[in-house]
Amino acid sequence: MDKFVAMVSAKAEVDLRLSDFAPRSQLKTPVHTVERPRFPAIDYHNHLDSLEPSDVLRVLDACGVERIVNITMRTGEAALETMESFHRAAPGRFATIGWMDWSGVERHDFAQLSVDRLERLVEHGACGIKFWKDLGLTVRDDSGELLRIDDERLAPIFEKAAELGVPVMFHSADPDAFFEPIDRFNERYEELAAHPDWSFCGSPVSKSDLLEQRDRVIARHPKTTFVCAHMAESSENLNYVADLLDKNANLCVDISARAAELGRQPYTARAFFLKYADRILFGADLLPEVDMYCLYYRFLETADEYFDYPSHASRQGRWNIYGLHLPDDVLRKVYRENALRLLNLDSN
Ligand SMILES: [Zn+2]
Repeated sequence: MDKFVAMVSAKAEVDLRLSDFAPRSQLKTPVHTVERPRFPAIDYHNHLDSLEPSDVLRVLDACGVERIVNITMRTGEAALETMESFHRAAPGRFATIGWMDWSGVERHDFAQLSVDRLERLVEHGACGIKFWKDLGLTVRDDSGELLRIDDERLAPIFEKAAELGVPVMFHSADPDAFFEPIDRFNERYEELAAHPDWSFCGSPVSKSDLLEQRDRVIARHPKTTFVCAHMAESSENLNYVADLLDKNANLCVDISARAAELGRQPYTARAFFLKYADRILFGADLLPEVDMYCLYYRFLETADEYFDYPSHASRQGRWNIYGLHLPDDVLRKVYRENALRLLNLDSN
């Protein structure tokens, strides 16, 4: 064979285990470590139930996080106790979003029960209620049917949230790759290999169906403010998110756990942030640690190229990210002002 043809057609046939492959980038480009955010940040999406308030505060103080929202995964009395212990530890630094309690879902008065529970949470200081992906995928009603996100029986809860002036957070569905087979074509193969239970491949409900159900609820309750966590679970398709925001003035999205997705499409993501600066919330959804927050700041503030994204140990995919170098007016809104609005606080 011609030497050149041989050179351009050679392919590797090796047995290096994927889990052992850890290439180091040789790229020499500027590195900007951002230790403090340009404006005091509010982490609108985190889970602190297992942590001591004082330990969390130490991290927040070290990296310029003004406030943090604990989305408690506890329900009932345990939720109220957790909320009170954080709020007491540092009034003004912690806020709490409650977790939708499905106990009693088989009861005919479940909607009223849930409305009462929401009222109680808000009386104790909760600033919202979260509906997780179990709704639509695993929660069943009294007849054993999957409860749909847009089931009309849940409407009083969304209406009550509007009346109480607290947002409803949705984490419905999951990344596209979680609905695909776990095979060599799956871009989140390693993550799914580490957490096979995160896969919804073969689920009776498709991702698009779940999103349609959710989107119908958002449209049906225009007086209720909704926050779709994780870029409305559509960071792979920001056009879709843009369309959803255009159609629903009552909707915001948070960027938590999506720096990897956003940072691999920096041109599209930057344009999206500039256009929807009033509708995007900063959130981490990772254990509060200084290095983790600094990576988020680097992503949002610098024009650095090809660096590690904040993530779980199992990673999200084999790629690196690019900074969005967002302007000050956008950073101020995303880090802080949009969250203050949802927390019913003024921006002084
Ligand atoms: Zn979360």
